Amino acid sequence: MKRVRFSVHRTVGEARLLAGLLAGSDLSVEVRGESLSPLGGEIPSTETWVELWLPEEEVGRGRELMAELEADQEASTRTVECPRCQEENPGNFELCWSCGVDLPSPVKTRPRLKAVP
Ligand SMILES: [Zn+2]
Repeated sequence: MKRVRFSVHRTVGEARLLAGLLAGSDLSVEVRGESLSPLGGEIPSTETWVELWLPEEEVGRGRELMAELEADQEASTRTVECPRCQEENPGNFELCWSCGVDLPSPVKTRPRLKAVP
């Protein structure tokens, strides 16, 4: 099985987090380079790197998962202005904290396939 390098991370923690996400979606992710960053922190963090490798045919799905993850993070850092009272709300809020009105969702939900009647 041919593997390609999917991503490079500065910290083992970050790499493990993403590896866990990919593995949880049935991708056969492989973590490389971990042994080069021993615990103890004697090496400056800039020299620590961890790579994630995926089989070539799973890279597409891996990218999709990464994009979803980034969209989630972006949504939680963005603010949404309330259409009624103009208060700013965190992007992951569904209701205005001030007046309770429904907020427009900043993340577009994917169109679902309609069942043929
Ligand atoms: Zn409001």
